[in-house]
Amino acid sequence: MAQRLRRVLSVASECAPLVKTGGLADVVGALPAALEPLGWRTRILMPAYPGLLERVGRTRRIWRDEDLFGGPATVRSCHFEGLDLLLLDAPHLYDRPGGPYVVDGHDHHDNHVRFAALSWVAARIAIDGTSDKWRPDVVHAHDWQAGLVPSYLKYAGSRVPTLLTIHNIAFQGIFGPDQLDALHLPTWDFHPEALEYHSLVSTLKAGLVHASRISTVSPSYAQELTREEFGFGLQGVVTMRRDRGELSGILNGIDTEVWNPATDPQINNYDAADPAAKAANRQALLNEFSLAEPSGPLAVVVTRLTHQKGVDLLLEKLPVFIESGGAVVVLGSGDPGYEYALGELAARYPQSVGLHIGYDEQLSHRMYAGADLVLVPSRFEPCGLTQLIGLRYGAIPLVAATGGLRDTVVDATPEHLADGTATGFTFSDIDAGGLGFALGRSVDLYKDQAAWAQLRSQALNTPVDWGTSAAVYARLFTELVS
Ligand code: ADP
Repeated sequence: MAQRLRRVLSVASECAPLVKTGGLADVVGALPAALEPLGWRTRILMPAYPGLLERVGRTRRIWRDEDLFGGPATVRSCHFEGLDLLLLDAPHLYDRPGGPYVVDGHDHHDNHVRFAALSWVAARIAIDGTSDKWRPDVVHAHDWQAGLVPSYLKYAGSRVPTLLTIHNIAFQGIFGPDQLDALHLPTWDFHPEALEYHSLVSTLKAGLVHASRISTVSPSYAQELTREEFGFGLQGVVTMRRDRGELSGILNGIDTEVWNPATDPQINNYDAADPAAKAANRQALLNEFSLAEPSGPLAVVVTRLTHQKGVDLLLEKLPVFIESGGAVVVLGSGDPGYEYALGELAARYPQSVGLHIGYDEQLSHRMYAGADLVLVPSRFEPCGLTQLIGLRYGAIPLVAATGGLRDTVVDATPEHLADGTATGFTFSDIDAGGLGFALGRSVDLYKDQAAWAQLRSQALNTPVDWGTSAAVYARLFTELVS
């Protein structure tokens, strides 16, 4: 007899393709399809931001509360593009202008309430079930926005096991202890071994303390998080969980149907066996941004424009890259200072620098397809998806050797080129000098088109799907329930 599928409640503040500000959304949206063949069926609980309910079509109410932190709330179930979604409809918390976290450049003033509410509802569903008679075997909480789920379950005496995944430890969900009561958190647990974080409360820390297990999105990032340079103050609690064998580093994959150069409707299609059409995509990208044919590689950057992503390093070293024959197209938004400086760079090199400030998923597809190189000089990178998409599209990743970047790109050293394992360029000194040196190596290798084609072929043949990692999650969930 077929075994019943086990149930995961995945709790997150974003989920592709509905709401996305970064890699978290991709993971939350892609993991369910990879887990299902392994016996785990997922429902995703997320806020019903403005317009979402209209977009998803028919929904069914499966949970309600007259007073969820100051207003009425319902959870509405629906299916959307293969995902089983539970949308938390609480107008007093989510129905307002702005993005998921920010409005007019500032955090929503009550983010701690908005996401504590999400976590509270997740815990209620895990404990009481829904009106369509569903209760999870495991709760998978993502980042600080879902960090309080394990705590709420613990305070309620629930034994439903939880996994908290850290996608980026730099965001910690911090607020003052005067809010504890309002958020149904007990003051008796406000101490350094639990909710307290330097006299404040951190929802991420709460999750790291209370979850049954914790994980991060790459093995290297898991190790890095135990160190002061990367732990953003939480290295102590991560180290404690690691020492008890309760920390896993599980590499992200990408959705290889969404990201498939052989079928992508945005581009001239190609694949590893026959990448010839990549040239047409390259030409199309040059045309789209009115760039001249470069003698060197055409690089792309697709990123949030922040300090983490090393945008300042790019600003320092791109002029040298361009003057040695390279060209670059940048897509991103973020820090106004970086946006301005990139605008200046584009004005200085109109034939070699394309710039689109904003968020544009479709354009990103055309960029990965047209690019020779994708640049990822991050100061830290929990996993990173752009280098994985680069591999998938034969856009050679040039990355800082940190976190998931280190785990997914094999440097084009003479040895790795010779033994056929190289897939990109990495640099360990994460500063302008390190980036400049790696860019120089890429320009040199590009002069040998046969070697470049070989490297691209190895990149195109690198597996970047969820297969292996989904199996690791499934094993972890199975351990948690048994
Ligand atoms: P992070 O989650 O830290 O932002 P990741 O590399 O994990 O970084 O994920 C970034 C994802 O968001 C990738 O899928 C990338 O293609 C996409 N992305 C980032 N910025 C933009 C943008 N401006 N337009 C379109 N897609 C973007």
